[in-house]
Amino acid sequence: MQRKALVQYLDEYLKPGSIKDFCPNGLQVEGSEKITKVVTGVTASQDLIDAAIQSGADTILVHHGYFWKGEPQPVTGMKKARLKRLLENDMNLLAYHLPLDIHPEVGNNVQLAKLLNMNVTRGLEAYNPQSVALVGELQRPMKANEFARLIEVKLGRKPLVSQVSDELIKTISWCTGGGQSFIDAAAVQGIDAFLSGEASEQTIHTSREMGVHFFAAGHHATERYGVKALGEHLAKQFELDVQFIDIDNPV
Ligand SMILES: [Zn+2]
Repeated sequence: MQRKALVQYLDEYLKPGSIKDFCPNGLQVEGSEKITKVVTGVTASQDLIDAAIQSGADTILVHHGYFWKGEPQPVTGMKKARLKRLLENDMNLLAYHLPLDIHPEVGNNVQLAKLLNMNVTRGLEAYNPQSVALVGELQRPMKANEFARLIEVKLGRKPLVSQVSDELIKTISWCTGGGQSFIDAAAVQGIDAFLSGEASEQTIHTSREMGVHFFAAGHHATERYGVKALGEHLAKQFELDVQFIDIDNPV
């Protein structure tokens, strides 16, 4: 299909125009006009670019692209190497950050809920219709150590856990990636547990002192599922050749 048509479809489906973000969403690096194969992945790292080229793709679609607010602007070092490889290979780079966190069908947070058997009830920030963090319930209430095992099985990675009691978790809030600071809002709202990708030193104090179980399940691990679901959606919608490539990251 034509690149223009794909970008247009993604911009309509993910609506990046309605979201304030820290990077440009959409086509970040322009490559070939015709798209025959798309590789999806969490981050447009050098390893993902190399794997995509090897697989014969002409387009990469990621959650973490480039050109973040506050990053050094000169095209040197790692940035030069990545861009050089993309441009030399006429590779398109499409990136959707927050639009892919909050999307109601293929978003990272909704997809993680599906994977971990959590029902979504509302956004964590009552005042924000585009709340990234969500609130819901475990379909089957369980103790924190049991839920930790479920995370390990489903994400293939042992989570960091702060278990504060033996009581069953019923209500839970979560935010994929680096959303650990939302634990404070979850604690104030009396939610039993909070899950994110990463943890900060102070996250554990909030967990213990406010009595909220906390799980850090990995930034990368919790953000695989949005872009993967988006790729599957595109494959169906356009009969496109789409391949998800997981470049492992322990964080
Ligand atoms: Zn992220």
